[in-house]
Amino acid sequence: MSDLGNKVILTVAVTGAWPSRKDTPHIPLTPREIADEILDCARAGASVAHVHVRDDEGKASMRYDKFEETLRYVRASGVDVVLNTTTSGGLGFGDDERMKPFRELRPEMASYDCGTMNWMHSSVFENRPEFLEKLAAAMTECGVKPEIEVFDAGMIYNALYYQKKGLLKDPMHFQFCLGVPGGMAATVQNLVFLRGLIPEGSTWSAFGVGKEHLPILYAALALGGNIRVGMEDNIFYSKGVLAKSNVEFVERAKRIVAEMGKEIATPEEARQMLGLKK
Ligand code: ZN
Repeated sequence: MSDLGNKVILTVAVTGAWPSRKDTPHIPLTPREIADEILDCARAGASVAHVHVRDDEGKASMRYDKFEETLRYVRASGVDVVLNTTTSGGLGFGDDERMKPFRELRPEMASYDCGTMNWMHSSVFENRPEFLEKLAAAMTECGVKPEIEVFDAGMIYNALYYQKKGLLKDPMHFQFCLGVPGGMAATVQNLVFLRGLIPEGSTWSAFGVGKEHLPILYAALALGGNIRVGMEDNIFYSKGVLAKSNVEFVERAKRIVAEMGKEIATPEEARQMLGLKK
């Protein structure tokens, strides 16, 4: 077995719920486009793909048929990548709609947004206690590892509560999502603070949105964490310059990680680090 201590899990989130063609012409929206982008990123070295889908108008969606089609293309390619589907493809979807993709398609991971928040000062990102309990139980039943997304420190305490209740199992995996208005700001100080709150033996990753993307990426690496890149979080490669493809973010992350004397984990290494079953 290789030395996993020197490996960094690189997640790519190619689409997300929000960027539109008006924001960037390069955002992949259809199942074919999303799958092709995931495959290009996986070939470039991404360990994990966090998957969102859109409806026929390109809007935020939890449509099962779109997830099914996207994952079918990725799986049929023979290219290996750990699949992580969202349970939060937009606001206002029903519990069953949010759970159906991972229940039916059995990706290795799915997102678990560990609390309700005011989303960008305009709406409510709802993750009711009852839903979080159901979600954790369903993920355990399906053998899907929760990626516990944390937008605010209280969400870690929610996770600790569900861990104590036996709903979330050790080792837990956290994704610190920083800089979304309504959540914690994307500062290094906040990242250090959050990392100090999670139980020993947990794994973690972090990203900052928009212009805070690079500072948080560097800080996460310096602190020994894992990283996430992609147009879900940031559409600009540099100030005023749109990324033409998610691959550009993957390639840059690879260079930064290599300069730090580390390596991106292969999907198989990521499975070992995350304790995935496959
Ligand atoms: Zn997402």
